[in-house]
Amino acid sequence: EGELSDPNAQGGDALDRALRPQAFDDYIGQRKAKANLRVYVEAARKREEALDHVLLFGPPGLGKTTLAQILAKEMGVGFRATSGPVIAKAGDLAAILTNLEPNDVLFIDEIHRLPPVVEEILYPAMEDYALDIVIGEGPSARSVRLDLSPFTLVGATTRAGLLATPLRDRFGIPMRLEFYEPEELGQIVMAAARKLKAPITEDGAVEIAGRARGTPRIALRLLRRVRDFADADGSMITQAAAASALKRLEIDADGLDALDRRYLHALVKTYAGGPVGVETLAAALSEARDAVEDVIEPYLMQKGYVARTPRGRVAAPLAYERLGLPRPGGDQQ
Ligand code: ADP
Repeated sequence: EGELSDPNAQGGDALDRALRPQAFDDYIGQRKAKANLRVYVEAARKREEALDHVLLFGPPGLGKTTLAQILAKEMGVGFRATSGPVIAKAGDLAAILTNLEPNDVLFIDEIHRLPPVVEEILYPAMEDYALDIVIGEGPSARSVRLDLSPFTLVGATTRAGLLATPLRDRFGIPMRLEFYEPEELGQIVMAAARKLKAPITEDGAVEIAGRARGTPRIALRLLRRVRDFADADGSMITQAAAASALKRLEIDADGLDALDRRYLHALVKTYAGGPVGVETLAAALSEARDAVEDVIEPYLMQKGYVARTPRGRVAAPLAYERLGLPRPGGDQQ
């Protein structure tokens, strides 16, 4: 359940790689972020320097990894990727850093999950391109400073607030990625269908795009599933074919999936519309609090189903409407 529109679930890796935009020009949407990054890349290239460190934040599946790869390509430098939970020891990160070529891009996904000891060696690395390593033990231990090649750290995280302030402050270029407009997702779906040689109509793409929770990864996954249904029926991906396939996949007309619906149901029915704490909601859904805050809520809040208040989450009128329920006290207003 929820798997199909889970923006974290990877899938079809080879296909994913083939569909990934390779340059700013193929990267659809995120106009503001892209325009600024183009300027910074051009300036860094002119100066023959490493691009300043970039922090990309926003819900999963919006294109952070893709954008990091594009930055390396546009800079004409190498790309190295790792993630916070994978780097267990300071030595692991030191090994990666000492192997970078000048001006390379190092991408660290889920950078908020770096262990604190690892985070500490990142500070001088980011600031001075230097590693402070301790040689020996006890009274004879001494610290040695090792120079690194200049490099660009591109960190990705779901929310900027998850990072410790000293780490966050060391990124010269913090950028928030936004949910995509349906038209932008429509273009992404059309471009992917072309690459997959999947016959699709414009309104078929629009139908998929409108139900993808503003998220390219979900749009592409829905395209693959809808294409399966269309292939099995020997039909094109038309609006009608997409709508009927999506219905079978339990994706609503407004793009909410089973997990979204369970969330709204818990908030409205179990907790009488709130206010209710996020921990309580997460427990009711048997989901991790992070998943609730990073995956489910951002979209529901942006769409106006739920509001965050100091006392907890509150259902907005749209949530009652969505569940076909009268608003409490609605008739007095
Ligand atoms: P994130 O790192 O934020 O979780 P990814 O960069 O892995 O997201 O992107 C998820 C998928 O969506 C990838 O298959 C990628 O090719 C596609 N994608 C993301 N952003 C765009 C975009 N702006 N234009 C076209 N495809 C995109």
